[in-house]
Amino acid sequence: MSEALKQKAAAADAADVLSSRRELFSLDDGIYLDGNSLGALPAHVPARVADVVQRQWGELRIRSWDESGWWTAPERVGDRIAPLVGAAPGQLVVGDSTSVNVFKAVAAGARLRPGRTEIVVDATTFPTDGYIAASVARMTGCTIVPVDPGALASVLGPATAVVLLNHVDFRTGRLHDLPSLTAAIQGAGAVAVWDLCHSAGALPVDLDAHGVDLAIGCTYKYLNGGPGSPAYIYIAERHQGAFDSPLPGWHSHVDPFAMAPDHIPGQGAVRGRVGTPAILSLLALEAALEVWDGVSIDSVRAKSLALSDFFLECADAQVAGGVRGPGSRVSLLTPVAHGERGSQLALRCAEAPAVMGRLIERGVVGDLRRPDVLRFGFTPLYTSFAEVERAAAALVEVLAEVPRGTLA
Ligand SMILES: *Cc1c(COP(=O)(O)O)cnc(C)c1O
Repeated sequence: MSEALKQKAAAADAADVLSSRRELFSLDDGIYLDGNSLGALPAHVPARVADVVQRQWGELRIRSWDESGWWTAPERVGDRIAPLVGAAPGQLVVGDSTSVNVFKAVAAGARLRPGRTEIVVDATTFPTDGYIAASVARMTGCTIVPVDPGALASVLGPATAVVLLNHVDFRTGRLHDLPSLTAAIQGAGAVAVWDLCHSAGALPVDLDAHGVDLAIGCTYKYLNGGPGSPAYIYIAERHQGAFDSPLPGWHSHVDPFAMAPDHIPGQGAVRGRVGTPAILSLLALEAALEVWDGVSIDSVRAKSLALSDFFLECADAQVAGGVRGPGSRVSLLTPVAHGERGSQLALRCAEAPAVMGRLIERGVVGDLRRPDVLRFGFTPLYTSFAEVERAAAALVEVLAEVPRGTLA
């Protein structure tokens, strides 16, 4: 790889306002471009989790529900995530998996629009979202309408109850236009549910500013909460009074310890709770979120775009035919336009399994989406321009090493 690109990387790292954040993470010499699947470990988290286990659980035991703030942790951690997605406090609650929160949001969204019969889902959605929306449709007697988000207007109408869209497509890294799509959905009188798994922590979302109705997202990707860390649901304040959860567990009751036979929901985001939260994971997440203190999401976005632009520049300069043009061995699935790009690049290559296998052997960890997509995620809190240059160089070398037609 050319000396000029190395120098460019060094200059960009020297000017990077986020560069010191990397020290907050537990990383090694490898190049980790898979933080869009599982965020890296913030170095202070193990000691904090040990305290939760040994002191809060081991010594305080049941008292921790009050004294260690376990009971209110779902709302507290929700409020900690809120600024990252542009939400005022009191609208996010954390608990359960993303899949379960998709269920809550789509079903409760449909209940906000009784009499309407269609649930619209993006046709290329992450599978779990589609499976669960289809199940909600079966339970409610609604019909699923799959659509390419670009063609959303053509399916919206008086029958549309809810629309579930991904802010960033997990496979291609395409960013959908949340403000205009939300406006179109609401213009048809329907409820907009956004899945933020691949955007929260990577780019500004501005839920309140754009008047989103409901949103959900996971915390183990860009938010670094740890494997299986609980997801969140955003319930816009104006919907909280009417939000009728399909999973009304005792933790969303107005008075859980009344142990009453009838469910009377509490007020606020607490309506998104179900039952006893996974406290160890939730408090690991709470500790992990400290790496965001003082970080502006605009600076994260600016660096994310600069990192992915730089990767493209390095790869384009070295791969025969480049990585953007048709006909070259590697072709970019992610839009080049900044307004349409999330924080990952997806490259299609017939030999993708072999290529990714060899990259990982060299310590460059991206991932593979079968059969032929290479994904590289850019996590501005801990990825440097020098690493991006080395990763692109490794990709160029591996492509030269793997003959066409190699499958594994
Ligand atoms: C990662 C991801 C999920 C994961 O769902 P889990 O219930 O946490 O397994 C769901 N939807 C999208 C769009 C994702 O990117």
